[in-house]
Amino acid sequence: MIISHHRVVVVGAGPTGLTAALSLARHGIDCLVLDRWDEVYPQPRAVHLDDEVYRIVAWVGLADEFARISRPSAGLRLVGRDGEVMAEFRRDAGESANGFPRANMFDQPEFERMLRAALPLYDEITFRGGVEVTDVVHTEAGVRVDYLDRAGGERAVAHADYVLGCDGANSVVRAAIGSRMQDLRFEQRWLVVDIATSADLGHWDGVHQVCDPDRAATYMRIGDTRYRWEFRLRAGESAADYGTLADLRPLLAPWTGEIDSSGLELIRVAEYTFRAQVADRWRDRRVFLLGDAAHLTPPFIGQGMGAGLRDAFNLTWKLAGVLDGALDPDRLETYEQERKPHARAMIRLAATLGRAMTEGGVLGELFRRRLVRLAGRVQGVGAKVADGVTPALRESDFVHRAAFRRGLAGTLCPNPAVDERGRRLDEVAPGRFLVVTTVRPTDGQRDEIERRGGVVIQAKAGSGLARWLREGHATAAIVRPDRMVLRAGRSLSSLHTWLPTML
Ligand SMILES: Cc1cc2nc3c(=O)[nH]c(=O)nc-3n(C[C@H](O)[C@H](O)[C@H](O)COP(=O)(O)OP(=O)(O)OC[C@H]3O[C@@H](n4cnc5c(N)ncnc54)[C@H](O)[C@@H]3O)c2cc1C
Repeated sequence: MIISHHRVVVVGAGPTGLTAALSLARHGIDCLVLDRWDEVYPQPRAVHLDDEVYRIVAWVGLADEFARISRPSAGLRLVGRDGEVMAEFRRDAGESANGFPRANMFDQPEFERMLRAALPLYDEITFRGGVEVTDVVHTEAGVRVDYLDRAGGERAVAHADYVLGCDGANSVVRAAIGSRMQDLRFEQRWLVVDIATSADLGHWDGVHQVCDPDRAATYMRIGDTRYRWEFRLRAGESAADYGTLADLRPLLAPWTGEIDSSGLELIRVAEYTFRAQVADRWRDRRVFLLGDAAHLTPPFIGQGMGAGLRDAFNLTWKLAGVLDGALDPDRLETYEQERKPHARAMIRLAATLGRAMTEGGVLGELFRRRLVRLAGRVQGVGAKVADGVTPALRESDFVHRAAFRRGLAGTLCPNPAVDERGRRLDEVAPGRFLVVTTVRPTDGQRDEIERRGGVVIQAKAGSGLARWLREGHATAAIVRPDRMVLRAGRSLSSLHTWLPTML
């Protein structure tokens, strides 16, 4: 029997687990990553991520690689049954306040291959594919993970200080800690179709959501020659009814027009049940749930995978701090306190869009109106950029919100160029706490900030950062390693003492 010891065991090498492992490795934490398969799961699922999540991809060192495999999108259109545009939320293909295009289309297997290819760059990461995790058990010393080699049946045990359950919708880790999915009452069957063609389909270059109770649909271009359609299945229909291009012709015709079937390559067609669910507990002592193991969303605003990456980014700097002895383990409570309400809000928004697309009559009209109002907040397509496009994180030990004002705490600090070399905020001191301020710190304050492991970012008058602070009624903000604001205020003298010691 193979027995090994690690600081962290990551169960599942999907996008969430891979991001968590790479992020831990960047903090110098050793981890074992276990997955059922040797290779990435080949079916395309996620196709969109936003500029906030792009920053996480950049943190794990893959911004340039992601730029090569992705394509900025023009935004979102809600269209009616006959193609009439009901609402349009354009986005600029250039860089947002987060430093990247606001909506980005890609192919999930290609994205996962990119993440997996980065694993060998880190001595801290050990990857074992072709293994089935069967149980996760707390012990006196930590946590034990039992797994089996799928080919030979050999048993193995990994001991760890912490375990991250990134094992997807049917999570074994979730079952092991006795957590259950809570249903947010959304369940629909959809047909997902991926097609390659070199023909120009000649449509607007963004996501189209067809609000048609009779046949709701989504169309989007995801690459130079790759396209995705999703169609709601009617009662009695299944993917088997649409197995060939000829079967799909009636659904695709409004989009592909005169293009002959020989010019279209059907990559795959599959049926998915879209659900809205959130696990009731995301943690039991030394075991955490992340990604689809903790939450499931209908994919309409393209935030499911992104939520998993946000989980990984939120938890890993805290875990690294605890494992380094710099943070009190009690602070790990903040993971669920912060991430669960955020994930739930995004899932509710996705479900609203789903209902606006599929509900008929007065109810459908209500959902569509609500959506047009909310759509300014749909990440990657709204008009707002820097002031909290996704909801601010809730109050926690790492988010100190002002009592009577919304303020900057819990929001994401923008990522503008901050030095003469053109380096962006995220590139200056990755993984460290920042004190971003328009005030010049005294020598004593600067020493204290540095003694606690923080880095001062001086926001020049008139700069984007200075404007961001001013609009948040602050002159200084403590920014966490995941670039969320811990606390902001009008005076540096009281603020900097809230900086946790992270050396
Ligand atoms: C049609 C569709 C469209 C989507 N579109 C988008 C989109 O545009 N944008 C977006 O952000 N998201 C989208 N999503 C959601 C996205 O695909 C998922 O949220 C994402 O894959 C979740 O990643 P994960 O790593 O948490 O879980 P998974 O991708 O499910 O990975 C879990 C991993 O754990 C492994 N595993 C599971 N159990 C075990 C075990 N017992 N032992 C060992 N290994 C195990 C699996 O092999 C797998 O590799 C879409 C989903 C669908 C279905």
